[in-house]
Amino acid sequence: MPTRKDGATVELPSPPISALRGVGPRVAEKLAARGLLTLQDLWLQLPRQYEDRTALTPIRLLQPGVAAQVEGTVEAVERGFRYRPMLRVAISDGSHATLVLRFFHFRAAQVAQFQVGARVLCYGTPKPGQHGLEIVHPSYRLLADADAAALGDSLDPVYPTIEGIGPVSLRRLIGQALDRLPDEAALELLPRELRDGLQLPSLREALLTVHRPAQDADVAALLAGRHPAQRRLALEELLAHHLSLRRQRLAQQAHAAPALKKAALAQRLRKALPFALTGAQQRVFERIRVDLANPHPMLRLVQGDVGSGKTVVAAMTAMLAVEAGKQAALMAPTELLAEQHLTNLRGWLEPLGVRVAWLAGKVTGKARAKVLEEVASGEAQMVVGTHALMQEGVAFRDLALAIVDEQHRFGVHQRLALRDKGTGSVGNGDAIVPHQLVMTATPIPRTLAMAAYADLDVSAIDELPPGRTPVQTVALSAERRPELVERIRKACAEGRQAYWVCTLIDDSDEVIAQAAQSTFEDLSKRLPELRVGLVHGRMKAAEKQATMRAFKGGDIDLLVATTVIEVGVDVPNASLMIVENAERLGLAQLHQLRGRVGRGSAASSCVLLYQSPLSQMARQRLETMRETNDGFVIAEKDLQLRGPGELLGTRQTGLASFRVADLARDADLLPQVQRIGEQLLAQSPQLADRIVARWVGSAVRFAGA
Ligand code: ADP
Ligand code: MG
Repeated sequence: MPTRKDGATVELPSPPISALRGVGPRVAEKLAARGLLTLQDLWLQLPRQYEDRTALTPIRLLQPGVAAQVEGTVEAVERGFRYRPMLRVAISDGSHATLVLRFFHFRAAQVAQFQVGARVLCYGTPKPGQHGLEIVHPSYRLLADADAAALGDSLDPVYPTIEGIGPVSLRRLIGQALDRLPDEAALELLPRELRDGLQLPSLREALLTVHRPAQDADVAALLAGRHPAQRRLALEELLAHHLSLRRQRLAQQAHAAPALKKAALAQRLRKALPFALTGAQQRVFERIRVDLANPHPMLRLVQGDVGSGKTVVAAMTAMLAVEAGKQAALMAPTELLAEQHLTNLRGWLEPLGVRVAWLAGKVTGKARAKVLEEVASGEAQMVVGTHALMQEGVAFRDLALAIVDEQHRFGVHQRLALRDKGTGSVGNGDAIVPHQLVMTATPIPRTLAMAAYADLDVSAIDELPPGRTPVQTVALSAERRPELVERIRKACAEGRQAYWVCTLIDDSDEVIAQAAQSTFEDLSKRLPELRVGLVHGRMKAAEKQATMRAFKGGDIDLLVATTVIEVGVDVPNASLMIVENAERLGLAQLHQLRGRVGRGSAASSCVLLYQSPLSQMARQRLETMRETNDGFVIAEKDLQLRGPGELLGTRQTGLASFRVADLARDADLLPQVQRIGEQLLAQSPQLADRIVARWVGSAVRFAGA
């Protein structure tokens, strides 16, 4: 192992897999297809199961569903063709019981092996069959007459299958790779001081334990992924990802951005508002103001529960750009939401003399040409719109701030596409990059945010404007639907408005639209005195917009809708929300829908209608909704119930590719990861680089995000 001047050993790049015996180009190609290129990749290819071949189980003692190893003598062989080819081999042992081995795929040579009287050693999970217990496709070996079954002395690892490579060869290859594991001093990258107190084994020990667990190893812990050896690997992997995100963050901060220092216009906006900012809004805006005064790009995620008032903060932020003579853009995921922002922003900003332009897919022809021209000339100081903002042909004169609302609906690439609208270069050729503000009402748990968003700064608007009463939530079986009609009648008679949301009965837009249509007809009939409206995704944008406007203006009492209204829609007078088939929605979506009410001062309620019987998971979701209105608590629960994969949506793509770690299971490691990460970056950046290289490789996940 070569040594550097500073005494640190330099890790040799791990040898390619082709250095192993028995790996020709064909095998190498199959492994490469799964991203396995070097010995290190094989070390980190962990078993997903263990087989205990250290003992034999008498057939009589086999239990259905419990994997076991059995030795027996072939009693009978039957080859049949009922529906499909089949081979059944009955074996028995000294315990005077019979076990059937059943094969659906087999070669003639295999059939020939099973002669009555032959001895077989096999392993598998028995289940009840026609004639007692049977094992389908056991792994097995025939024993020569004199052979005693040689028992293993450790648990056998079972690896994820790789097409074209048999399990035995794969195990052998990984075994060979492990034989070449460097000694501890060469392998270990975490300095001892940082490892102390964690009570986790060294990397070498951890790898050997996971691949070759001792006979007395805690198999339950291994299978659950909670063994200290696995925790050690997960810790290092999480650390590597964390460090890589931090590094990207630093790279991002090294770019230049316009320093936006004047806040007089933002203050004028604040004073003109019909309400005072909450403490949380003020605090978050202050943070942003400090960020934007820097000549480096801000990249900040603002998490704020539904109704916490993120839009105002975004508007004030935009004023910092406008006052500097530059432009700001606000992109929202749906046209409905973008239009609402447009209305709010025009209401707030036009009195201040700020020109707000509108760009969405439906803006076409001459109108579009005119908007594009205003955007390009800089006459449009603020531009609000949908995905249309990112399209080709949209050129800003001087975009200094890109705001993305409800960012969980967008992919990282879309966010970057908007940012890139403002990327230019300064005199010396350095890239100049706009500031970015991303907002979400789907909070993710703090621990997860640390892992997933280490490349962003995160702030939370964790306070609702005063005077809101918490929404009362009940879950009702769908049979009680008729009662709701009376409830709607009563609420509307008091001058309130209500939503009725029809959800996923089917995944197709069309079926949902139909369901909404018939609910609309039914409710119109039952509630003749009310003005009932309908919006769904299949309507023309203009129609949708007209209906939404009428609802907002109080000209519609009851709005029947699909989940198109889920995100952001703001009608403070609405106080009753009914959600059909609530059992099929996730917590985040239910929370979003419920967030449409309770936005004014009236006491509001939310009725979650469900179809029985409820699954365990659905029951827990509905219970959580009844128990709390706090988006952060709901997010924690969502993480427990669903795991982080779905929670993070598109952004998750990079995180989903953990080899060992599981964010839900290993979330408790994250505070340590952060602590160790900060220390490493400060004290030994070269070690940090090597940890990143080991686990994340050179693949930069969100290049330059
Ligand atoms: P969200 O954070 O869900 O996007 P919005 O920005 O749509 O929330 O704000 C919800 C409602 O609360 C809007 O009608 C907005 O004008 C109002 N609002 C925002 N801030 C305050 C405040 N400090 N006091 C009172 N109302 C506020
Ligand atoms: Mg919003």
